[in-house]
Amino acid sequence: MDKIVENIVFIKSLDLFKDAFPERIDQILKNKEEGKKIVGTLCLYVPDELIYACGVDRVILCGGRSAPIEAAEQYLPRNLCPLIKSSFGSVIDQKCSKTKSCPHFGLVDLIIAEATCDGKKKMYELLNQYIPIHVMDLPQKPENQNALEYYIKELESLKCVLENLTGNKITDAKLRNEIKSANETRKLLHELYELRKRDSPPIRGTEMLKVLQQMHFLSPDGFRKNLVLLLDELKVKKRENSGPRIMISGCPMASGNMKVPEIIENRGGLIVVEESCTGTRAFWDLVDENKELMRALAERYLKIPCACMYPNDRRIDQILRLAGDFNVDGVVYYTLQFCHGYNVEKYRVAEALKKSGIPLLSIESDYSGADTEQIKTRVDAFLEMLE
Ligand code: SF4
Ligand code: SF4
Repeated sequence: MDKIVENIVFIKSLDLFKDAFPERIDQILKNKEEGKKIVGTLCLYVPDELIYACGVDRVILCGGRSAPIEAAEQYLPRNLCPLIKSSFGSVIDQKCSKTKSCPHFGLVDLIIAEATCDGKKKMYELLNQYIPIHVMDLPQKPENQNALEYYIKELESLKCVLENLTGNKITDAKLRNEIKSANETRKLLHELYELRKRDSPPIRGTEMLKVLQQMHFLSPDGFRKNLVLLLDELKVKKRENSGPRIMISGCPMASGNMKVPEIIENRGGLIVVEESCTGTRAFWDLVDENKELMRALAERYLKIPCACMYPNDRRIDQILRLAGDFNVDGVVYYTLQFCHGYNVEKYRVAEALKKSGIPLLSIESDYSGADTEQIKTRVDAFLEMLE
């Protein structure tokens, strides 16, 4: 039986994020009717600032639901990461579109994809038959002396692609403005994460995750506005949240994929930080507003420590830093099945955590419910060991 009792102190502004879906779909539809172009993205390496500076709207297409996977497996191997299959299945599954469970796919004029893991790159070749795609290249040795210059050129190409799509110019003034706004959101998220360092954080990990899952779906202004209200409320609310302090680290938890964090918190753990693309990786570094704009953007985005990078010491350093700053008792290393990058990198993370005396539980899972009971048993044993 689950151990946690719902917190009796209610956070009203969390509903703003929960209820935003229909309103946001209407907003995208309206934008589309008015002739605005819509792009879809599937990764953090695509700078939002360029997209919005071109007067384009953007939706995130990362799949977190299990329903579209069956359709995807008619084209893609079963032994492929569920996030890739779910994203692809949402496009090709007509049944899915008819039920309007993912209505934004049909509205997308162009997907801006990126050369990260192999599974995604190959999936993009197939997806290109349904929706036009521009795939940005990504230097995967970010410390290489040519990497930054190369990435700046890729961003310049993306700028041209967006300008050709819309007929709009990305001026320095527009780009500067978007960089400033995106940095404001990042600063607000930092402020919010500071509250999570408290002995009794005012927000639980599962609540925070649902907020972050909306970060790339809502408009930047809409997300920021809700974030300000949430922060104001959290600063004054007294809530008793306790339990072993957990960092969840690893693969993204796209909207719909809440299985592991929910198990952790329902069994009595308290997630205080996520080292994830649905977590700190999405907002940690700011763009330097004092530098030449494209260079500053490239520098910021190349710092994202995805497991597709080599060497990825930056991620290991960040995990250790976050573990200390958020006073974590243990780390749950979360990987999606068949995600080789994060699965292989686990070894180095485990070694680093062991040296620092921080316990680790490794969970590899998919989007089905088949392993739920087994995960509960393992989480129970881990939390008991931490208590
Ligand atoms: S894990 Fe890597 S490839 Fe996936 S969204 Fe994050 S940065 Fe992109
Ligand atoms: S979770 Fe891993 S395999 Fe899946 S898309 Fe992200 S990097 Fe690729």
